[in-house]
Amino acid sequence: MQNQQLQNEPSITVSEDQLLKVQGLKTYFKLAKGNVAKAVDDVSFSINKSETVALVGESGSGKSITSLSIMRLIPNPPGEIVEGSIELEGKNLLSLSEDEMSKIRGNKIGMIFQEPMTSLDPVFTIGNQLIESLMKHQKMKKKEAWTKGIELLKIVGIGSAEKVMKEYPHQLSGGMRQRVMIAIAMSNNPKLLIADEPTTALDVTVQAQILNLMLEMKVKFGTSILLITHDMGVVAETADRVLVMYGGQIVEEAPVKELFLDTKHPYTIALLKTIPNLEMELERLESIPGSVPPAHLFPKGCRFAERCQHVMSKCKEQNPNLVEIDPYHKVRCHLYDQEGRGMM
Ligand code: SF4
Repeated sequence: MQNQQLQNEPSITVSEDQLLKVQGLKTYFKLAKGNVAKAVDDVSFSINKSETVALVGESGSGKSITSLSIMRLIPNPPGEIVEGSIELEGKNLLSLSEDEMSKIRGNKIGMIFQEPMTSLDPVFTIGNQLIESLMKHQKMKKKEAWTKGIELLKIVGIGSAEKVMKEYPHQLSGGMRQRVMIAIAMSNNPKLLIADEPTTALDVTVQAQILNLMLEMKVKFGTSILLITHDMGVVAETADRVLVMYGGQIVEEAPVKELFLDTKHPYTIALLKTIPNLEMELERLESIPGSVPPAHLFPKGCRFAERCQHVMSKCKEQNPNLVEIDPYHKVRCHLYDQEGRGMM
C-alpha cells in the first residue's frame, strides 16, 4: 500500500529558491515550580518556493508549536521563543514589530487549522469574514471584495458561492467550512500556507477532496505548504519532503520517496507501521507503545530511548546529533554514528 500511495506522489523539486529558513529555533514554556517545557528545542529546516514540506509526529512532538512560532502566535507568558531565527524571504520575522507581523499573517502566510470553527467567527457571515481579509490586506472596497470573495469560493469548489457568502459557519458542513478556510487563507495569495492537521476532523472522501484542493491551490498560486500531520498516509499523498519530529526535535529529514523506501530512524519506522493498508485490513493496526515524554522531563540521552527497540547504553547517556547520511537525508540516532552506521 505504501508503494501504491507513492506512485501518485508529486515529483520532488529541490530548488535553491528558499522561501522560509528556520534556524536553531527554541520555544520554551515556563511551568510551575521553575520547570521549563522545551516544546521546540533547536529546530532548523527550510522550505523552498512551491514546495510541500510535511512536519510529522505524534501529539506532543512539538510540530504545532513550531508552526505557531513561525506565525509568532506563542502565548507569552508562559511561552517564549528563546533562541533562533525565522526568515521569510530573507526577513527575520522575530525582529518585526507586532504591527509588521500582523501584516505578514494572512497576507504572506496563510493558515488552516484542524477545526475551522476555532478560526471562523460564529457571529459573522462567511462573506463578511472573507471580505475583511481582502479589505485589510489588499485595500479593496467592500463591493470589489464581495465579488472577489464569490470568485474565491468558486475556486475552492463551492458551487452556490453567492448563497454561502450570506450564510453563517454553523450552517455549513465540516468539509464546506474547511473549503471556506482555504479560500480565506488563499485570499491574498500567500507565499506560505501552514496547514495544521487540516483534514483530521473530516471523513475520508472529504479528506481526499481537501488535500487535492490544497495541491491545486499550490500549483495555481505557486504557494509553498507546511503541512502538519500525524497521518503518514496523508504525507505519502501530498509531501515533497518530510521532517519527522519527536520530543521537540527533528529526528529524520528526507524527500518523501526516500523516507518511505529507505527509512532510517526507529521512530519513523514505527510511525510507518501505523498506516493502514489493504493487507492489514483485518488485523489490528500497530501503534507505538508508550508516549512522547513531557517536554519538561526529557531525558539527557535520546528522547526516544524509552520506546526504542534498538536502545543501547550510549543512547541513555547522550542525545544524538542530527547528521547528514546523504545530501538530502538527515537522521538523529546513534545507530548511524560513524562507527555504527548501517546497523539497521
Ligand atoms: Fe533508539 Fe538509540 Fe537511536 Fe535513540 S539513539 S532512536 S534509543 S537507537
